Amino acid sequence: MSKKIYVAYTGGTIGMRPSDSGYAPGGNLMGLLEDKLSPEVMASLPEFQLFEYPQLIDSSNIRPDNWQHIASDIASRYAQFDGFVVLHGTDTMAYSCSMISFMLQNLHKPVIFTGSQIPLCEARTDGLENLVGALTMAADERIKEVCLYFNGRLLRGNRSSKLNAYLFDAFDSPNYPWLGREDIHVELNETLLWQPKEAETFQLVCDSETHVGIVQLFPGINAQWMASALNQPMDAFILRTYGTGNGPDADLALLDTFVRATTSGKLIVNLTQCHRGTVHQGSYAAGSALAKAGIVGGLDTTTEAMFCKLHHLYSLGMNSEEVKVQLSVSLAGEVSV
Ligand code: ASP
Repeated sequence: MSKKIYVAYTGGTIGMRPSDSGYAPGGNLMGLLEDKLSPEVMASLPEFQLFEYPQLIDSSNIRPDNWQHIASDIASRYAQFDGFVVLHGTDTMAYSCSMISFMLQNLHKPVIFTGSQIPLCEARTDGLENLVGALTMAADERIKEVCLYFNGRLLRGNRSSKLNAYLFDAFDSPNYPWLGREDIHVELNETLLWQPKEAETFQLVCDSETHVGIVQLFPGINAQWMASALNQPMDAFILRTYGTGNGPDADLALLDTFVRATTSGKLIVNLTQCHRGTVHQGSYAAGSALAKAGIVGGLDTTTEAMFCKLHHLYSLGMNSEEVKVQLSVSLAGEVSV
């Protein structure tokens, strides 16, 4: 039976047009596609319905209410379509697909994010290949999760990161193998795909107002600088550390700043600045000192996925102790446990 795909166009380079200040979001994406693709080619694609959001954005403007909008849009059409494609800017795509993977629970259909590095209105666009590839993946009923499709590769959305601003090869999932590839043949690595529990039904979990901050260690960082960050009214912080989760344990004032924040109920999660690998706070004394200060290791979760996971868990009304327990639980395949 032929599949029906819903395409949500939220903005991003794929539909942008040149302006005096550089590329800016542009409408009439369907018109652009019809200019590029002959009716015969169009007819050979999975059947799709494209909906253009009234407010198209450069994804650098993404905010939690945009996530609410995208997730509710998909949820409201869940029964009518077999798969979903979200056209989105690449800059924050890894955040958005992570967040949507937590908000759409027990997905039994594919939700595929894609976009492009060069707009569809340009001759050398990569948007066409990405859109056609994403539609193909969205019509594959073996996929039951939120993915990111780009430059021929299919990645788990909440494992992805934008790693290259200039190549078509912009995304990777550093701590999880690719789920699939499209070359001459379309290949899926079925053993890696997320399997929802059959008995549980699809539901949308709303994201409420929560506050998560990201702080990065740098050589010479001091207690005063850290205190001004940790004193912000946030529920939780991600601390981006060195290597396997190490920090300057020789700076006792800095460690004391962490202790004061964690004992006051703020959650601090340790993630590494390295692109690949996992946090293990016990490998070095410089990591153990952070653990002793009450900081919790975030394993191999990406910063983007952890940011969204924390948002999601606090939205559910959990306190920091409850959230802490969930960090080593894989909710949607975001962490290796
Ligand atoms: N600034 C653009 C955006 O994220 C970049 C892109 O789409 O590639 O919306």
